[in-house]
Amino acid sequence: MDHLERFFSFVEQSPTAFHAVANLKEMLQKASFRELKEKDPWLVDAGGKYFVTRNDSAIIAFSVPRDGFAPFKIAAAHSDSPAFKLKPLFEDRVEQAYLRLNVEKYGGMLFAPWFDRPLSLAGRAVVETDKGVEARLFNIDRDLLVIPNVAIHMNRDINDGFKYNAQTDMTPLLGEGDLKGKFRSLVAEAAGCKAEELLGNDTFLYPRIKGTVIGAEGEYVMSPRLDDLECAYCGLAAFLSASPCENGIDMLCVFDNEEVGSGTKQGADSTLLYDVMQRILTALGKGAEDAFRATAASFMLSADNAHAVHPNHPEKTDAENCVFMNEGIVIKFNANQRYTTDGVSAAFFHRILKEHGIPCQHFANRSDAAGGGTLGNISGSHVSVNTVDIGLAQLAMHSCCETAGVKDIAYMTDGMRAFYETPVTPGRDGEFFM
Ligand code: ZN
Repeated sequence: MDHLERFFSFVEQSPTAFHAVANLKEMLQKASFRELKEKDPWLVDAGGKYFVTRNDSAIIAFSVPRDGFAPFKIAAAHSDSPAFKLKPLFEDRVEQAYLRLNVEKYGGMLFAPWFDRPLSLAGRAVVETDKGVEARLFNIDRDLLVIPNVAIHMNRDINDGFKYNAQTDMTPLLGEGDLKGKFRSLVAEAAGCKAEELLGNDTFLYPRIKGTVIGAEGEYVMSPRLDDLECAYCGLAAFLSASPCENGIDMLCVFDNEEVGSGTKQGADSTLLYDVMQRILTALGKGAEDAFRATAASFMLSADNAHAVHPNHPEKTDAENCVFMNEGIVIKFNANQRYTTDGVSAAFFHRILKEHGIPCQHFANRSDAAGGGTLGNISGSHVSVNTVDIGLAQLAMHSCCETAGVKDIAYMTDGMRAFYETPVTPGRDGEFFM
């Protein structure tokens, strides 16, 4: 399988953050990384390779140089995407004829693309066991539901603009009205338990769309969840293929809940990264002074996708500080520091890319548009390291099917690998030797 097919397969098998982390974990285990548990004592050896998960939806992997102690070289991305999540009382009947699922929105998505296409359900089922409860991944993995549009004959003005209501318009149809209790039995079957043993669940709708290549010359990829599984996948590919650099503890972080503000125990606005860094240093026998020194000399790439110029609406982006698909890694700037990039961190990363002949481009929002934030500055409030915000140019961000550039997947993988492989020594403030 080539790089692109592996990428599509990863995204298709990762309908939720839980699945994305399970797949990342499997790839790390195949590459001989050892799992550490947060609740257990950590034995970390010089030259060792490890990973740890939190909530089964965030993961941090790291490899330690042979002489043990070094600053951290971190690439970070997120595992979640906007979707619809089931409410705790999940079924609702209409006119005795229809059984619908009661959902609410997770994150800020475009509503329209979710209509009139096959949808399914996946997530985490929490099952009663003899001794307590146990979370299990499940994916119903078949065309199951639809959110039907109202016909044009019943809504003649829809093409002049329509305000969707998340409570009334976005409810998926599961089946006929006499099927009450069906959701529970479908999930139980997928999770391998009895319906009455299902005590909890975190269930998301997902579109049944496979990744594909489009464009006259095969220039573009179309797939659900490109934001941000594209960066997570490139990060892992770079992390696993990088030659060990004795100059840094290489680290890959994939956080959950970026789409809802990162404020959970497994989000970037948690102690996860800080805890893992401290525990690595402690396990290596390092003290507080070493930890301060390592943090000060560390560097993070915060990777999350960026808005390409829209072919029908080029006016939506700044005329100069705009980016295009297939033209390289995007370095993102914002004067109000919603992106962490500054002159030094941008130049640092640009220098590495230039050395390896990898293209990059620079993005800033229109001055009259707010734009989005991401995980870099949120993580920085817990672990203050030099950080640059980067990403890949894409169209239709937060649609349930997005479009990006084929070449950019290789650029991001190569760029992150170059970052891991480049020996870096900080000088005074604003100075790096590489
Ligand atoms: Zn994102």
